[in-house]
Order: sequence, then structure tokens, then C-alpha cells
Amino acid sequence: MVEIYSKALNTSILVDRLIGKIKGKPNGPTIVFFGGIHGNETAGVFALKEVFEKIKETQVQGTIYGISGNLKALKTNQRFIDKDLNRVWLKENLSQLENKTNLNNEEGEQQELYRILKHILKEEEGPFYFIDLHTTSSKTLPFITINDALINRKFSSLFPVPVVLGIEEYLDGPLLSYINQLGYVSLGFESGQHDDLSAITNNVAFIFLSLIYAGALEQGEVQNFHDYYDILVNASDKDKEVYEVVYLHRLLKTKNFKMKPNFKSFQNVKKGEQLATEENKTIESPYSAKIFMPLYQKKGSEGFFIIKKIHPFFLSLSEVIRKWKMDTLITMLPGITWMDKQRGVLRVNLKVTKYLAKQIFHLFGYRNKQKNTTHMLLFNRERTSKKEMYKNLKWYKRVS
Ligand SMILES: [Zn+2]
Repeated sequence: MVEIYSKALNTSILVDRLIGKIKGKPNGPTIVFFGGIHGNETAGVFALKEVFEKIKETQVQGTIYGISGNLKALKTNQRFIDKDLNRVWLKENLSQLENKTNLNNEEGEQQELYRILKHILKEEEGPFYFIDLHTTSSKTLPFITINDALINRKFSSLFPVPVVLGIEEYLDGPLLSYINQLGYVSLGFESGQHDDLSAITNNVAFIFLSLIYAGALEQGEVQNFHDYYDILVNASDKDKEVYEVVYLHRLLKTKNFKMKPNFKSFQNVKKGEQLATEENKTIESPYSAKIFMPLYQKKGSEGFFIIKKIHPFFLSLSEVIRKWKMDTLITMLPGITWMDKQRGVLRVNLKVTKYLAKQIFHLFGYRNKQKNTTHMLLFNRERTSKKEMYKNLKWYKRVS
């Protein structure tokens, strides 16, 4: 048991790795919530504890898990101790992890989480849903982040909060990117600022809506369903647009990064506007768009992101393109070849990407990663997703 303190509630709770598990009636989904993958983000853990106390086993269809992330870092209220636990979920790490001894703190945490994850996927039945609860250092509207696969887009469109796509192109090794590569619905939910009370209430609301939308709870069984829905509508200022990350200001060796005060996620910024200072230089916004997740804490290597709204027309267009697997068409272009058709990996000559905008690849369901000096690899999020598992569910068939 680990004692975790919440500034917002000025109270402590004791939690284990398993915050809660409810196995209800058979033939339901399996929903797995993670809280506190970052140890200074306690809101998810507190919210999960509250929700598990409110639900009765007889109400549940399927199985629900609440899992705490970085226990040692949660105990000391730090983002991480040795390494960021949300940047280590890479295939090469995982293959070594099993047999590794002499683990640092986060490798120990990851080893346990990885075992639990494999156990759940082996023992439980689908459809599977994975939801990772986070908070941010700046003020923010609550929002969802997803890897851009249609199963994720469709499930997240049910919630009355904005959705941000494409963060995966900028980050290596988040837990959800790993789970998404396995093909399952996986959503990140950022509920608010670390120590705001609303970060907990937004999380409780989001957890209940997730359970209802995934079919683990009947809407009629949840007394406050409409209140939960309204909490998120109001907290997100009625914004339920889809945005795309277009820029990340990455912090490399610099230790002297400082955001100008009071920027909130989703706040409009102008091209050339001063956003931060770094090594005594002024950092300006490269776009007129919205600032996203500005960093107001010491740990973390992303200074800020810039996001832009995606027009609904392009969202629909890309859905059609992906449904008809029109991506085979791009391989007819010079400089683009399949590297692994089964896994949906394209190899693209960088000369091509000079005149073919990244947005085109996004339409076709590709996100870029890994570059050498001449080529880029593009990974298709559709070809790896387990659509069969979800395609007959109400939310998948629904026209958004
Ligand atoms: Zn986090």
C-alpha cells in the first residue's frame, strides 16, 4: 500500500497497484483505467477510487479495472523518479524488460504494469478499452488525446470534450501508443490542472461516461448521468472540435526554459507572439493557432505544443479514404514503397515529402515516425487496429 496525497482535497488515501476490479455479468467489455502514470498527477487515482466505491458489481456488464501507474512517484508527488514512465513503451525496451535485473524505479513499475496488461489481454474478453487519466501543469479545458485510428476517433466523438490528434508523432513511447499499436481502443484523458479540484470531478464524470458508452453500465443505472455529462460540457466551454498537433517546442539540453505566465491550453496565440524564454532568447509562436500544454513544471521535455482545428470536411474525407483502403494509391507515387504492407508501414523518400504535405498522409491514416537522412517511415493506424472487435457496436456504426 502506498499513501497518496491530494492537494485539492487536502487528504490522503492508501492504494495498491490495483485500485479496483469489478467482474460483472459475462458478455460485456473489458475496460482498463490507468491513473497516476505520472506521479504528480494524482487526480486520476482519487477519481478511480471514488468511482469504484460507487459502483455495485450487480450493475456491471463485463469487467472494469482501475490500475495505479507510478506508485513510488505517486507517493512522493513527482512526475517520475528516474525516467518518465510514459516515454518507455517501446518494443525494444519491452523485449528486454522481462529478463532484466537491476531495474531502475520506472523499469520496476513498467515490468509490473506490462505483466498486468498481458494478463488482462489473455484472461479477459473483448471488446477492450484502455483509458489513461492525466492532468497538466497549466490551466486547461479537459480534453482527449488519441492516436489517429478510426476506432479511437469514433469512440472519443461520444464525449462532450475536444479531441487532439497526432501527438504520437512528437512523443516516443507513451503507454497508449503501445496499446494502440496492439489494435485496441485507447484514449488519454487530460482532466485539468494537477491540483485543481475540477481535475478530480472531471475525471469522475469521464470515467462514468466511458463505462456507459462502452456498455459496462446502463445509462439508467447511473443516477447522475446527465450531471456528469453537463460537468464536461461546461468544463470544456462546449468545445468538442477535433484538433491536430502541428508543432512541438522540444526541450533538449536546455534547462533554462520558462513559459511566460498564465497561458492556458487551447488559448489563441498569434504568429510571432512571445511565448517563452530559453537561454535568454525569446521563443515566439510559429503559427497563429492555439497553444497546447505549455509547461509550467520542472520535469518534462516538451515546452509547448501548437494545435490547429481540423475542418469536419477533412475528417469525413479521411474516413472514406480509410474505409476503402485507398492508401494503396499512394504507393503508385514515385519515392513511396511498402516496407511492410501487413503492418501498414510505408517507406518514403524525403524528397517526396518536400512537395507532398504531411496532411495528405494524415488523411490516408498515416503518421510519421523514425527518420534517417534520406527516408521516413509512415505507420498506418488503420491497418493495425482490430476493427473486427468493434465494428458491430452501436458507437462504431453511429454516424457522427
Ligand atoms: Zn501526465
